[in-house]
Amino acid sequence: MTSTLSPTGMKKLRDFKLSGMARTVPIRLEEAQSTPLSHQEFLELLLEDEASQRAENRRKNLYGSAHLPFEKGMEDFDFTFQPSVKKTEMLELATGNFISKRENVVFVGQPGTGKTHLSVALALSALGHGMSVLFTSVWDMITALEQSRADMSYHKKVSCYVKPDLLVLDELGYKSMAESTVEDFFEIVSKRYEKGSIIMTSNRPFGEWDKIFIDKTLTGAILDRLVHHCHIITIKGESYRVQQRLKTP
Ligand code: ADP
Ligand code: MG
Repeated sequence: MTSTLSPTGMKKLRDFKLSGMARTVPIRLEEAQSTPLSHQEFLELLLEDEASQRAENRRKNLYGSAHLPFEKGMEDFDFTFQPSVKKTEMLELATGNFISKRENVVFVGQPGTGKTHLSVALALSALGHGMSVLFTSVWDMITALEQSRADMSYHKKVSCYVKPDLLVLDELGYKSMAESTVEDFFEIVSKRYEKGSIIMTSNRPFGEWDKIFIDKTLTGAILDRLVHHCHIITIKGESYRVQQRLKTP
């Protein structure tokens, strides 16, 4: 005999958003008929099903809303190729402690030296620790903020960049920014200051950031907040892409 809950019972489970239980209740009922299960054991099994479904949903949501451009971890990074990156420092950052302490990380280095790869690896570790992450290029963020002013959703957009435990801002420095976009950028950095971590990557050393942000006072204010509690990783090495290309005949 197939055991299941009545349609009303199933509807109630769904209405109460107990989808984990709704999914497994027919299996658990059948199990309860063929194996001697106490009422307590039966209830605990169902509660466990609900808990693991919720954990899985949360995991999927975290990964989905992180918008990572690819998935490469620390284990995929060849530290022997880039000796200026200290493996011990990266593994320490991968513990996620810097995020709990609301510290920042800035990677500075030439194109192809692994800045995005390492940022993604740290983002993946953070997700693994159950922390929320948002990955975006600087350009996409300032464009989205600029557009949000037009449709009056600016404050909502700002909160998207302020809320996650970790915000990864990739590729600062390819283009100089217009004054209003620098202000938007400053808004995010100052709102996250001592409240949430930022990982930033740039192909330009700090000394050249006034060429990106143009305004010297704003550049100072951004740098001040960003580097106050910050791990600065300067990658001095060759482009991995170029090396790979040279190796391929
Ligand atoms: P950047 O952001 O500094 O321009 P990327 O992180 O995008 O560089 O790296 C370019 C490509 O080379 C990526 O596919 C990345 O995975 C790979 N790469 C870079 N450095 C290393 C490394 N040391 N070990 C393995 N792969 C690397
Ligand atoms: Mg990059």
